[in-house]
Amino acid sequence: MIRKIICMLLALCVTLLGMTEAAALGIEATPYSQDELSAASYIYGDVDSNGKVSTDDALSVLKASVGISKLTGKGFVKGDVNYDNKLTTDDALYILKKAVGIIKKTPVENLSASAMNKRIKEYVSSEKTEMIRLVNPYNVLPSTWNPSVKALKTKTSKKFHTMAADKLDDMINACNKKYGSGKLWAQSTYRDYATQKALYEKEVQRWKNKGYSDSKARAKAATIVAAPGTSEHNTGLACDFNNVEESFSKTKMYPWLLENAQSYGFVERYPKGKGDITGIIWEPWHFRYVGVDAAKEMNSYGWCLEEYHYYNHL
Ligand SMILES: [Zn+2]
Repeated sequence: MIRKIICMLLALCVTLLGMTEAAALGIEATPYSQDELSAASYIYGDVDSNGKVSTDDALSVLKASVGISKLTGKGFVKGDVNYDNKLTTDDALYILKKAVGIIKKTPVENLSASAMNKRIKEYVSSEKTEMIRLVNPYNVLPSTWNPSVKALKTKTSKKFHTMAADKLDDMINACNKKYGSGKLWAQSTYRDYATQKALYEKEVQRWKNKGYSDSKARAKAATIVAAPGTSEHNTGLACDFNNVEESFSKTKMYPWLLENAQSYGFVERYPKGKGDITGIIWEPWHFRYVGVDAAKEMNSYGWCLEEYHYYNHL
């Protein structure tokens, strides 16, 4: 019965939208500029993730907004198409407009990496969760960043974040139990800001010595050594394994990590085919701790960390 009423309401919406817009239904809808209406966020209207924004999506949001049903997980996030952190009839209305073609879409895939990262940056500054902290050239750690680190048990000369050091040790031990002692080891882990800066400045100088201007030398150097504050190794949550080479992907440990790392809270941070988003080539040796929940979510959706933030926070 309730479903019938809602369906009727939606059908009425469709009929009225063209001529009278939302006011006729008593739904408060803030007028959006054309830019906002065609923003990439609109993909969030696809709450059932079936690849298209339809009246079903609007119906789901409408039901959730009036408390008849619940949207959980990603659907809920996606349902909030106007980013006000609430799922309301406004959202249902916008999805409906999209579904019936009143609003055109700009697929999220058309966003450039810089545009996506600019959007991410807006909330990263207030991001409190260090565990999923995004660090890249667009989201730079402050020079005062000083994570709590401790020595790994499997390699006492290497330091890792205190929240994840035991997990990394456990993962390495589990892998080596299967493939043999010493097969997997942590090669490069925590690097403090000052060390990163020294490495970077050394690389800058190398290019300056070749005759490059300061700015060009800095840009060139950044493609080889991450500028200070832009390397995940500065968080204490990233680990490069073994010889830090692509051939690591040919070892038995690599597929084992792909399958099991999430149970320890780790993900392959720079996967194959994500370079246009991460800005980093495929690095099969570089794993990042994000916690078990985020790791499983990223893997199930096939997201890199930028995408994880993008889809969860807009
Ligand atoms: Zn690395």
